[in-house]
Amino acid sequence: KEKAQILDDKGMRRAMVRIAHEVIERNKGVDNLVLIGIRRRGVPLAQRLAKYINDIEGTAVPVGILDITLYRDDLTTLANQPQVHQTEVTFSITGKKVVLVDDVLYTGRTVRAALDAIMDLGRPEVVQLAVLIDRGHKEIPIRADYVGKNVPTSRKEVISVRLTEIDKEERVVILEG
Ligand code: 5GP
Ligand code: MG
Repeated sequence: KEKAQILDDKGMRRAMVRIAHEVIERNKGVDNLVLIGIRRRGVPLAQRLAKYINDIEGTAVPVGILDITLYRDDLTTLANQPQVHQTEVTFSITGKKVVLVDDVLYTGRTVRAALDAIMDLGRPEVVQLAVLIDRGHKEIPIRADYVGKNVPTSRKEVISVRLTEIDKEERVVILEG
């Protein structure tokens, strides 16, 4: 059941455009910058970030993909560790500034798995994390460098991120658990 709308299409665009500016500012430009989206909804978000960065800086930054399977029976019950089962990163990440992109940050365990996978691929200069929504309840010391919106949630609630590319609509809502 839908509880509240967090972001509409304009709000999502503003948040991602702001993050694009923050990424550029913090990294003093986009030299050696690469984006890696975490499947599934982190991928269109990474692609959008690349587009906004290109709009601002006139530089195309590479976008890679990590596919991480969550071994949990639903979004609120933790089971085993998330596991990386496919990577589509066709460029070298050694010496690069890597920005990981995901839709929702929750316990942090998916990001931990993503960091393992990234370190297996090469030796980045720095890794940063961008998320559209930080819903709280981290269980390990991982924080996002760029946050679209902080949304305090109960563990029972679920954030539904609806993206045009996947869901044919554009909004973020809280669902009652
Ligand atoms: P974590 O590993 O931090 O517990 O969970 C993060 C991953 O699970 C993200 O890839 C995210 O897609 C998914 N996730 C966790 N909680 C939610 C949620 O409330 N809504 C959505 N859409 N995804 C979630
Ligand atoms: Mg996910």
